[in-house]
Amino acid sequence: MALYDRDRAVISGLEKLRFFPVALVGGEGAHLIEEGGRRLLDLSAGWGAASLGYAHPAIREAVAGALSSQAGATLLSTTNAPAVALAETLLEITPGEGERRVWLGHSGSDANETAMRAVRAATGRERIMAFHGAYHGGTQGSMEISGHSAQEGVTKSAGLTLVPYPDPYRPYEGDATGEAILAHVRALLEGEVPGREVAAFFIEPIQADGGLIVPPEGFLRKLAALCAEFGILTVCDEVKVGLARTGMMHCFEHEGIAPDLVVFGKGLGGGLPVSAVVGPARVLDFAQSFSMQTLHGNPVCASAAKAVLDTMRREALADHARDVGAAMMEGLRALDLDRIGDVRGRGLAIGVELIEDAQKTPAANLARKTVYRAWELGAVFYYVGMSSNVLELTPPLTLSEAEAREGVEIIGQAIRDAAEGRVDDAKLAEFAGW
Ligand SMILES: *Cc1c(COP(=O)(O)O)cnc(C)c1O
Repeated sequence: MALYDRDRAVISGLEKLRFFPVALVGGEGAHLIEEGGRRLLDLSAGWGAASLGYAHPAIREAVAGALSSQAGATLLSTTNAPAVALAETLLEITPGEGERRVWLGHSGSDANETAMRAVRAATGRERIMAFHGAYHGGTQGSMEISGHSAQEGVTKSAGLTLVPYPDPYRPYEGDATGEAILAHVRALLEGEVPGREVAAFFIEPIQADGGLIVPPEGFLRKLAALCAEFGILTVCDEVKVGLARTGMMHCFEHEGIAPDLVVFGKGLGGGLPVSAVVGPARVLDFAQSFSMQTLHGNPVCASAAKAVLDTMRREALADHARDVGAAMMEGLRALDLDRIGDVRGRGLAIGVELIEDAQKTPAANLARKTVYRAWELGAVFYYVGMSSNVLELTPPLTLSEAEAREGVEIIGQAIRDAAEGRVDDAKLAEFAGW
Protein backbone atom coordinates (compact mmCIF):
# COMPACT_ATOMS: atom_id res chain seq x y z
CA MET A 1 0.00 0.00 0.00
CA ALA A 2 1.23 3.49 -0.76
CA LEU A 3 2.64 5.35 2.24
CA TYR A 4 -0.02 8.06 2.13
CA ASP A 5 -2.78 5.42 2.23
CA ARG A 6 -1.11 3.69 5.18
CA ASP A 7 -1.03 7.09 6.92
CA ARG A 8 -4.76 7.53 6.27
CA ALA A 9 -5.39 4.17 7.90
CA VAL A 10 -3.40 4.72 11.10
CA ILE A 11 -2.55 8.37 11.83
CA SER A 12 -5.05 10.48 13.74
CA GLY A 13 -6.62 13.37 11.93
CA LEU A 14 -6.34 15.41 15.13
CA GLU A 15 -2.72 16.14 14.30
CA LYS A 16 -3.11 16.74 10.57
CA LEU A 17 -2.95 20.03 8.73
CA ARG A 18 -2.59 18.72 5.20
CA PHE A 19 -2.58 20.54 1.89
CA PHE A 20 -1.61 17.76 -0.54
CA PRO A 21 -0.74 14.08 -0.22
CA VAL A 22 3.00 14.29 0.21
CA ALA A 23 4.62 11.18 1.72
CA LEU A 24 8.27 11.38 2.66
CA VAL A 25 10.97 8.79 3.03
CA GLY A 26 14.01 11.05 3.25
CA GLY A 27 15.53 14.47 2.88
CA GLU A 28 18.80 16.27 2.38
CA GLY A 29 19.64 19.97 2.41
CA ALA A 30 16.66 21.96 1.15
CA HIS A 31 15.13 18.88 -0.49
CA LEU A 32 12.61 16.33 0.68
CA ILE A 33 12.45 12.90 -0.90
CA GLU A 34 9.05 11.40 -1.61
CA GLU A 35 8.20 7.75 -1.71
CA GLY A 36 9.18 6.78 -5.24
CA GLY A 37 12.26 9.03 -5.12
CA ARG A 38 10.99 12.38 -6.41
CA ARG A 39 12.90 15.31 -4.89
CA LEU A 40 10.93 18.34 -3.69
CA LEU A 41 12.31 21.79 -2.93
CA ASP A 42 11.11 22.60 0.58
CA LEU A 43 10.21 26.27 0.89
CA SER A 44 8.53 25.74 4.26
CA ALA A 45 11.16 23.74 6.15
CA GLY A 46 8.32 22.15 8.09
CA TRP A 47 6.95 25.56 9.15
CA GLY A 48 10.49 26.76 9.83
CA ALA A 49 11.56 23.88 12.06
CA ALA A 50 14.23 22.52 9.71
CA SER A 51 16.30 25.68 10.05
CA LEU A 52 19.47 24.05 8.69
CA GLY A 53 17.65 21.90 6.13
CA TYR A 54 17.61 18.12 6.37
CA ALA A 55 20.31 15.72 7.52
CA HIS A 56 22.72 18.56 8.31
CA PRO A 57 26.13 17.14 9.31
CA ALA A 58 26.36 19.36 12.42
CA ILE A 59 23.06 18.05 13.80
CA ARG A 60 23.82 14.44 12.88
CA GLU A 61 27.14 14.68 14.66
CA ALA A 62 25.64 16.34 17.73
CA VAL A 63 22.87 13.78 18.09
CA ALA A 64 25.20 10.84 17.51
CA GLY A 65 27.60 12.27 20.10
CA ALA A 66 24.87 12.80 22.67
CA LEU A 67 23.67 9.23 22.26
CA SER A 68 27.08 7.57 22.23
CA SER A 69 27.48 8.41 25.93
CA GLN A 70 24.09 9.56 27.14
CA ALA A 71 24.09 12.11 29.99
CA GLY A 72 20.80 10.92 31.41
CA ALA A 73 17.38 11.44 29.92
CA THR A 74 15.96 14.46 31.70
CA LEU A 75 16.76 17.71 33.44
CA LEU A 76 14.31 17.40 36.31
CA SER A 77 16.35 15.64 38.93
CA THR A 78 19.78 15.58 37.30
CA THR A 79 21.52 18.28 35.31
CA ASN A 80 23.42 17.49 32.13
CA ALA A 81 26.21 19.11 30.11
CA PRO A 82 24.33 19.66 26.81
CA ALA A 83 21.34 21.35 28.49
CA VAL A 84 23.54 23.71 30.51
CA ALA A 85 25.69 24.53 27.48
CA LEU A 86 22.56 25.27 25.44
CA ALA A 87 21.21 27.58 28.13
CA GLU A 88 24.56 29.38 28.36
CA THR A 89 24.56 29.92 24.59
CA LEU A 90 20.96 31.16 24.59
CA LEU A 91 21.83 33.73 27.25
CA GLU A 92 24.88 34.78 25.28
CA ILE A 93 22.96 35.41 22.06
CA THR A 94 19.84 36.97 23.60
CA PRO A 95 20.14 40.61 24.68
CA GLY A 96 18.84 41.39 28.15
CA GLU A 97 19.82 42.77 31.51
CA GLY A 98 20.12 41.58 35.09
CA GLU A 99 19.84 38.06 36.43
CA ARG A 100 18.31 35.85 33.80
CA ARG A 101 17.39 32.20 33.44
CA VAL A 102 16.53 29.78 30.66
CA TRP A 103 13.63 27.33 30.70
CA LEU A 104 13.88 24.41 28.26
CA GLY A 105 10.87 22.65 26.72
CA HIS A 106 9.73 20.64 23.73
CA SER A 107 7.67 22.99 21.59
CA GLY A 108 6.63 26.54 20.97
CA SER A 109 3.34 25.63 22.60
CA ASP A 110 4.73 24.46 25.92
CA ALA A 111 7.15 27.38 25.99
CA ASN A 112 4.44 30.01 25.48
CA GLU A 113 2.19 28.25 27.97
CA THR A 114 4.97 28.27 30.53
CA ALA A 115 5.70 31.94 29.87
CA MET A 116 2.01 32.73 30.31
CA ARG A 117 1.69 30.83 33.57
CA ALA A 118 4.99 32.18 34.92
CA VAL A 119 4.32 35.86 34.21
CA ARG A 120 0.94 35.57 35.94
CA ALA A 121 2.27 33.75 38.97
CA ALA A 122 5.39 35.89 39.35
CA THR A 123 3.65 39.26 38.95
CA GLY A 124 0.40 38.40 40.68
CA ARG A 125 -1.41 40.01 37.74
CA GLU A 126 -4.06 37.95 35.96
CA ARG A 127 -4.58 39.75 32.67
CA ILE A 128 -2.77 38.98 29.41
CA MET A 129 -2.81 40.98 26.20
CA ALA A 130 -2.16 39.56 22.74
CA PHE A 131 -3.12 40.15 19.13
CA HIS A 132 -6.00 39.05 16.97
CA GLY A 133 -4.49 36.57 14.51
CA ALA A 134 -1.75 35.49 16.93
CA TYR A 135 -0.78 31.83 17.00
CA HIS A 136 1.04 30.91 20.20
CA GLY A 137 0.46 27.16 20.16
CA GLY A 138 -1.77 24.13 20.31
CA THR A 139 -1.81 23.20 24.02
CA GLN A 140 -4.67 24.39 26.20
CA GLY A 141 -2.71 27.23 27.82
CA SER A 142 -1.09 28.48 24.63
CA MET A 143 -4.41 28.34 22.75
CA GLU A 144 -6.06 30.35 25.50
CA ILE A 145 -3.84 33.32 24.72
CA SER A 146 -3.93 33.00 20.93
CA GLY A 147 -6.16 34.91 18.55
CA HIS A 148 -6.05 32.80 15.41
CA SER A 149 -9.26 31.97 13.55
CA ALA A 150 -8.22 28.30 13.34
CA GLN A 151 -8.86 28.12 17.10
CA GLU A 152 -12.18 29.94 17.14
CA GLY A 153 -13.91 27.22 19.14
CA VAL A 154 -11.46 27.41 22.03
CA THR A 155 -12.53 29.09 25.26
CA LYS A 156 -10.11 31.93 25.87
CA SER A 157 -8.36 32.67 29.10
CA ALA A 158 -10.63 34.78 31.32
CA GLY A 159 -8.13 37.63 31.55
CA LEU A 160 -7.25 37.74 27.85
CA THR A 161 -7.66 40.89 25.78
CA LEU A 162 -6.93 40.73 22.05
CA VAL A 163 -6.16 43.83 20.00
CA PRO A 164 -5.69 44.24 16.23
CA TYR A 165 -2.23 43.57 14.77
CA PRO A 166 -1.07 46.42 12.53
CA ASP A 167 -1.28 45.27 8.91
CA PRO A 168 0.05 47.92 6.50
CA TYR A 169 -1.70 46.15 3.59
CA ARG A 170 -5.09 46.11 5.33
CA PRO A 171 -4.83 49.00 7.79
CA TYR A 172 -6.94 49.15 10.94
CA GLU A 173 -9.22 52.20 10.68
CA GLY A 174 -7.40 53.20 7.50
CA ASP A 175 -4.22 53.98 9.42
CA ALA A 176 -1.16 52.13 8.09
CA THR A 177 1.19 53.57 10.75
CA GLY A 178 -0.30 51.60 13.64
CA GLU A 179 -0.97 54.77 15.66
CA ALA A 180 -4.70 54.06 15.81
CA ILE A 181 -3.99 50.68 17.41
CA LEU A 182 -1.56 52.22 19.89
CA ALA A 183 -4.25 54.74 20.86
CA HIS A 184 -6.73 51.88 21.25
CA VAL A 185 -4.32 49.96 23.52
CA ARG A 186 -3.64 53.04 25.64
CA ALA A 187 -7.36 53.68 26.03
CA LEU A 188 -7.85 50.08 27.17
CA LEU A 189 -4.97 50.24 29.67
CA GLU A 190 -6.31 53.49 31.10
CA GLY A 191 -9.85 52.12 31.17
CA GLU A 192 -11.49 48.73 31.08
CA VAL A 193 -8.25 46.70 31.02
CA PRO A 194 -6.34 48.44 33.83
CA GLY A 195 -2.63 48.39 33.00
CA ARG A 196 -1.64 47.54 36.56
CA GLU A 197 -3.62 44.26 36.24
CA VAL A 198 -1.88 43.14 33.04
CA ALA A 199 0.97 40.68 33.54
CA ALA A 200 2.27 40.58 29.99
CA PHE A 201 1.74 41.43 26.34
CA PHE A 202 2.48 38.52 23.99
CA ILE A 203 3.98 39.76 20.72
CA GLU A 204 4.91 38.10 17.45
CA PRO A 205 7.50 40.43 15.84
CA ILE A 206 6.11 39.25 12.49
CA GLN A 207 2.62 37.80 12.75
CA ALA A 208 3.30 34.55 10.92
CA ASP A 209 0.25 32.28 10.95
CA GLY A 210 -1.94 35.38 10.98
CA GLY A 211 -0.68 36.22 7.48
CA LEU A 212 3.08 36.85 7.61
CA ILE A 213 2.39 40.45 8.53
CA VAL A 214 5.34 42.78 9.07
CA PRO A 215 4.39 45.57 11.48
CA PRO A 216 5.03 49.17 10.42
CA GLU A 217 8.32 50.78 11.43
CA GLY A 218 8.30 51.96 15.03
CA PHE A 219 5.08 50.23 16.09
CA LEU A 220 6.60 47.59 18.36
CA ARG A 221 8.99 50.11 19.87
CA LYS A 222 6.08 52.33 20.86
CA LEU A 223 4.07 49.36 22.08
CA ALA A 224 6.98 48.21 24.26
CA ALA A 225 7.31 51.72 25.70
CA LEU A 226 3.60 51.73 26.46
CA CYS A 227 3.91 48.38 28.24
CA ALA A 228 6.86 49.68 30.26
CA GLU A 229 4.76 52.64 31.41
CA PHE A 230 2.33 50.24 33.09
CA GLY A 231 4.90 47.70 34.28
CA ILE A 232 3.63 45.16 31.76
CA LEU A 233 6.15 42.52 30.71
CA THR A 234 6.70 42.01 26.99
CA VAL A 235 6.92 38.40 25.82
CA CYS A 236 8.33 38.09 22.32
CA ASP A 237 7.28 34.92 20.53
CA GLU A 238 10.20 34.25 18.17
CA VAL A 239 9.16 30.65 17.61
CA LYS A 240 8.75 30.84 13.84
CA VAL A 241 10.64 33.95 12.76
CA GLY A 242 13.49 34.02 15.28
CA LEU A 243 17.04 32.65 15.17
CA ALA A 244 18.62 34.09 12.02
CA ARG A 245 15.57 33.68 9.79
CA THR A 246 14.86 37.37 9.27
CA GLY A 247 18.43 38.45 8.64
CA MET A 248 19.19 39.12 12.31
CA MET A 249 19.66 36.60 15.08
CA HIS A 250 16.36 37.83 16.57
CA CYS A 251 13.46 39.33 14.69
CA PHE A 252 12.82 41.83 17.50
CA GLU A 253 16.23 43.38 16.79
CA HIS A 254 14.74 44.90 13.61
CA GLU A 255 12.37 46.79 15.89
CA GLY A 256 14.98 48.01 18.33
CA ILE A 257 13.17 46.51 21.31
CA ALA A 258 14.49 44.41 24.19
CA PRO A 259 11.63 42.14 25.28
CA ASP A 260 11.49 40.97 28.90
CA LEU A 261 10.96 37.35 27.88
CA VAL A 262 11.87 35.69 24.59
CA VAL A 263 10.33 32.43 23.42
CA PHE A 264 12.14 30.09 21.01
CA GLY A 265 11.01 26.92 19.29
CA LYS A 266 10.73 25.41 15.83
CA GLY A 267 14.10 26.26 14.19
CA LEU A 268 15.93 26.00 17.52
CA GLY A 269 15.99 22.21 17.28
CA GLY A 270 16.57 22.06 13.54
CA GLY A 271 13.83 19.43 13.32
CA LEU A 272 14.08 17.97 16.81
CA PRO A 273 11.61 18.94 19.54
CA VAL A 274 13.14 21.63 21.72
CA SER A 275 12.01 25.06 22.84
CA ALA A 276 13.18 27.68 25.29
CA VAL A 277 12.12 30.73 27.25
CA VAL A 278 14.77 33.29 28.19
CA GLY A 279 13.84 35.87 30.79
CA PRO A 280 14.32 37.47 34.19
CA ALA A 281 15.20 35.18 37.10
CA ARG A 282 12.38 36.77 39.11
CA VAL A 283 9.93 35.25 36.61
CA LEU A 284 11.65 32.03 35.54
CA ASP A 285 13.03 31.17 38.98
CA PHE A 286 10.19 32.28 41.20
CA ALA A 287 9.15 28.73 42.16
CA GLN A 288 10.40 25.17 41.91
CA SER A 289 8.66 22.37 40.00
CA PHE A 290 6.23 24.82 38.41
CA SER A 291 6.43 23.78 34.76
CA MET A 292 8.21 20.58 33.92
CA GLN A 293 7.86 17.53 31.75
CA THR A 294 10.09 14.51 32.12
CA LEU A 295 12.04 14.88 28.89
CA HIS A 296 12.49 18.66 29.05
CA GLY A 297 16.18 19.45 28.69
CA ASN A 298 17.07 15.96 27.52
CA PRO A 299 20.69 15.83 26.32
CA VAL A 300 19.89 14.69 22.78
CA CYS A 301 17.60 17.56 21.82
CA ALA A 302 19.75 20.03 23.75
CA SER A 303 22.82 18.91 21.79
CA ALA A 304 20.98 19.33 18.51
CA ALA A 305 19.88 22.84 19.48
CA LYS A 306 23.39 23.82 20.56
CA ALA A 307 24.70 22.59 17.18
CA VAL A 308 22.02 24.64 15.40
CA LEU A 309 23.01 27.85 17.24
CA ASP A 310 26.74 27.22 16.74
CA THR A 311 26.21 26.58 13.02
CA MET A 312 24.11 29.71 12.61
CA ARG A 313 26.88 31.80 14.09
CA ARG A 314 29.80 30.02 12.44
CA GLU A 315 28.21 30.18 8.98
CA ALA A 316 26.69 33.66 9.43
CA LEU A 317 23.30 32.30 8.42
CA ALA A 318 21.49 35.50 9.42
CA ASP A 319 23.45 37.41 6.75
CA HIS A 320 22.82 34.62 4.27
CA ALA A 321 19.07 34.64 5.02
CA ARG A 322 19.01 38.43 4.59
CA ASP A 323 20.68 38.26 1.16
CA VAL A 324 18.88 35.22 -0.26
CA GLY A 325 15.58 36.47 1.16
CA ALA A 326 16.04 39.88 -0.50
CA ALA A 327 16.75 38.21 -3.84
CA MET A 328 13.74 35.97 -3.42
CA MET A 329 11.41 38.86 -2.61
CA GLU A 330 12.72 40.76 -5.61
CA GLY A 331 12.05 37.72 -7.80
CA LEU A 332 8.52 37.34 -6.42
CA ARG A 333 7.72 41.00 -7.06
CA ALA A 334 9.12 40.69 -10.57
CA LEU A 335 6.56 37.97 -11.32
CA ASP A 336 4.19 40.91 -11.63
CA LEU A 337 0.99 38.85 -11.46
CA ASP A 338 -2.24 40.73 -10.79
CA ARG A 339 -3.35 38.00 -8.40
CA ILE A 340 -0.38 38.83 -6.14
CA GLY A 341 -1.55 41.71 -3.95
CA ASP A 342 1.49 41.99 -1.74
CA VAL A 343 4.95 40.48 -1.24
CA ARG A 344 6.39 41.16 2.21
CA GLY A 345 8.75 39.80 4.79
CA ARG A 346 12.21 40.00 6.24
CA GLY A 347 15.02 37.68 5.18
CA LEU A 348 13.70 34.17 4.67
CA ALA A 349 10.30 34.82 6.26
CA ILE A 350 8.23 35.83 3.26
CA GLY A 351 4.51 36.19 2.65
CA VAL A 352 2.80 36.37 -0.74
CA GLU A 353 -0.77 37.61 -0.36
CA LEU A 354 -3.15 36.41 -3.08
CA ILE A 355 -6.19 38.47 -4.05
CA GLU A 356 -9.18 38.14 -6.37
CA ASP A 357 -9.43 41.71 -7.61
CA ALA A 358 -8.39 45.33 -7.22
CA GLN A 359 -10.55 45.52 -4.07
CA LYS A 360 -8.06 43.09 -2.44
CA THR A 361 -10.69 40.38 -1.91
CA PRO A 362 -8.74 37.52 -0.27
CA ALA A 363 -8.21 34.62 -2.70
CA ALA A 364 -8.38 31.59 -0.39
CA ASN A 365 -9.31 29.11 -3.07
CA LEU A 366 -6.46 30.30 -5.25
CA ALA A 367 -4.04 29.80 -2.34
CA ARG A 368 -5.29 26.23 -1.80
CA LYS A 369 -4.86 25.44 -5.47
CA THR A 370 -1.50 27.17 -5.70
CA VAL A 371 0.12 25.14 -2.93
CA TYR A 372 -1.34 21.95 -4.40
CA ARG A 373 -0.11 22.80 -7.87
CA ALA A 374 3.33 23.76 -6.54
CA TRP A 375 3.64 20.31 -4.97
CA GLU A 376 2.83 18.78 -8.34
CA LEU A 377 5.52 21.00 -9.86
CA GLY A 378 8.08 20.02 -7.21
CA ALA A 379 8.00 22.52 -4.34
CA VAL A 380 6.51 22.42 -0.85
CA PHE A 381 5.00 25.39 0.98
CA TYR A 382 1.68 26.19 2.62
CA TYR A 383 -0.60 29.14 3.21
CA VAL A 384 -1.45 31.12 6.34
CA GLY A 385 -3.60 34.10 7.28
CA MET A 386 -6.94 34.77 8.91
CA SER A 387 -8.41 34.60 5.39
CA SER A 388 -6.22 31.64 4.32
CA ASN A 389 -4.83 33.54 1.34
CA VAL A 390 -1.15 34.19 2.12
CA LEU A 391 1.54 31.85 0.81
CA GLU A 392 4.16 31.46 3.53
CA LEU A 393 7.81 30.86 2.64
CA THR A 394 10.14 29.90 5.48
CA PRO A 395 12.73 27.73 3.73
CA PRO A 396 15.86 26.31 5.33
CA LEU A 397 18.29 29.12 6.14
CA THR A 398 20.87 27.28 4.06
CA LEU A 399 18.83 27.76 0.86
CA SER A 400 21.10 28.74 -2.05
CA GLU A 401 20.38 31.61 -4.44
CA ALA A 402 19.89 29.10 -7.25
CA GLU A 403 17.35 27.17 -5.17
CA ALA A 404 15.59 30.44 -4.33
CA ARG A 405 15.34 31.27 -8.05
CA GLU A 406 13.98 27.81 -8.81
CA GLY A 407 11.44 28.28 -6.03
CA VAL A 408 10.27 31.63 -7.38
CA GLU A 409 9.78 30.09 -10.81
CA ILE A 410 7.65 27.27 -9.43
CA ILE A 411 5.59 29.71 -7.35
CA GLY A 412 4.90 31.87 -10.41
CA GLN A 413 3.95 28.85 -12.52
CA ALA A 414 1.75 27.44 -9.75
CA ILE A 415 -0.17 30.71 -9.31
CA ARG A 416 -0.71 31.03 -13.07
CA ASP A 417 -1.83 27.40 -13.41
CA ALA A 418 -4.15 27.66 -10.42
CA ALA A 419 -5.65 30.94 -11.64
CA GLU A 420 -6.21 29.46 -15.10
CA GLY A 421 -8.17 26.52 -13.69
CA ARG A 422 -5.55 23.84 -14.16
CA VAL A 423 -6.14 22.40 -10.68
CA ASP A 424 -9.17 20.16 -10.28
CA ASP A 425 -11.39 20.99 -7.25
CA ALA A 426 -12.04 17.29 -6.69
CA LYS A 427 -8.35 16.69 -5.93
CA LEU A 428 -8.50 19.20 -3.11
CA ALA A 429 -11.66 17.87 -1.53
CA GLU A 430 -9.93 15.99 1.28
CA PHE A 431 -7.37 18.75 2.00
CA ALA A 432 -9.10 21.30 4.16
CA GLY A 433 -5.88 23.07 5.14
CA TRP A 434 -6.87 25.88 7.48
C1 LIG B 1 4.35 27.26 15.55
C2 LIG B 1 4.27 28.36 16.50
C3 LIG B 1 4.06 28.13 17.86
C4 LIG B 1 3.82 26.75 18.41
O1 LIG B 1 4.93 25.92 18.24
P1 LIG B 1 4.75 24.33 18.25
O2 LIG B 1 6.13 23.83 18.05
O3 LIG B 1 3.83 23.98 17.14
O4 LIG B 1 4.22 23.97 19.57
C5 LIG B 1 4.08 29.21 18.71
N1 LIG B 1 4.27 30.45 18.26
C6 LIG B 1 4.48 30.72 16.96
C7 LIG B 1 4.72 32.12 16.52
C8 LIG B 1 4.47 29.68 16.03
O5 LIG B 1 4.65 29.94 14.73
